Amino acid sequence: MNRYATALAAVSTYVALGASGAVGQDDENAVLRDAMAFAMHDAAFTVYHEVGHMLIGELGLPVLGKEEDAVDTLATIWLLNDEDQDYAFNALIDASDGWYYNAVNSTGSGVDEFSYYAEHSLDIQRAYAMVCLMVGANPDIFGETADVYELDPDQQGNCAYTYEQALVSWSTLLSAHELNGNESAPIEVIYEDAGEYEDFAVALKEDGILDRAANEVTSSYALPQPVTFRAAQCGEANAYYDPSASEVTYCYELAAQMFNLYVYDIAAWGDSGEDTGQE
Ligand SMILES: [Zn+2]
Repeated sequence: MNRYATALAAVSTYVALGASGAVGQDDENAVLRDAMAFAMHDAAFTVYHEVGHMLIGELGLPVLGKEEDAVDTLATIWLLNDEDQDYAFNALIDASDGWYYNAVNSTGSGVDEFSYYAEHSLDIQRAYAMVCLMVGANPDIFGETADVYELDPDQQGNCAYTYEQALVSWSTLLSAHELNGNESAPIEVIYEDAGEYEDFAVALKEDGILDRAANEVTSSYALPQPVTFRAAQCGEANAYYDPSASEVTYCYELAAQMFNLYVYDIAAWGDSGEDTGQE
C-alpha cells in the first residue's frame, strides 16, 4: 500500500533526525513522535487483549457471551488499574480512538480492512464499550472523553454499574488462579527479527510492553505450563493467541498500521493540499 510505505519512510526519517530536526521540521517530528506513542499505546491494549485470550485458554476459564468482548473488557480493567496511571490512561484513550478511527475508515471506504475476525464486535462498538468502562471506573479522569464520545449523563451513570460488574466477574474468575505461595510457569518474551519494522521493534522493547504484561501475569496468577509472548513479522497487521502452542504473537505490522492510522487519519497529514491525491 502506497501510503503505508510513505509512513515507514517517515518514521525512518524521524528516527534519523532525532529531536534535533531543523526548525520547520518540528511540527512534522511532533506528529511522528505522537504517532509512535499512539501505536505503542494501542499495542499495550492489544497485548492485554491477547493476554485475556491466553488466560482463558491456559487456565480453562469459562466464558459467558462473546469471548472477544470479554477480553476487551479485561484489557480495559487491567489498564484502568495499572500503577503507571499516566501511561495506562493515555493508552486507553488512544486505543479507544484507534477503534473509533478504524470504524470511520471502514465506513468511509466501504471495506472493513480492520475487522480481523467476525467474532469481534464492530470497531465502533469496541470503542464505545471501552469508553463506557473507562468513565464507569473513573468519571473524574474520563468524563471529558465520554463527553467527546457523546455518552449522555444517564449512560455514563449506568457505566459505573457496567464497570463494577465486569471487575467483580473477572476478579472472581481469576481469584481461583492466584499464586497463593505457588509459582507460575514462566512466560518467555521473544522479539523476532523485525526487518523494515525495526523502529517499531525498538519502541516495543523500550516501552517494555510484552515484558510488562508477562511480569504482571506471572506475578499474579499460576500458569500451569510455560507460555511464549512473541513479537514477529506475520505478513499481516494482527495479534493472536495460539492455544496449541501456548503462544501470544504481536505482529510488527500492526504497530505500523496504527502508526499510519495516526499520521493520516488523526493528524490528517495529506489534507493540506500537498498530497499526491492518491486517496
Ligand atoms: Zn481477540
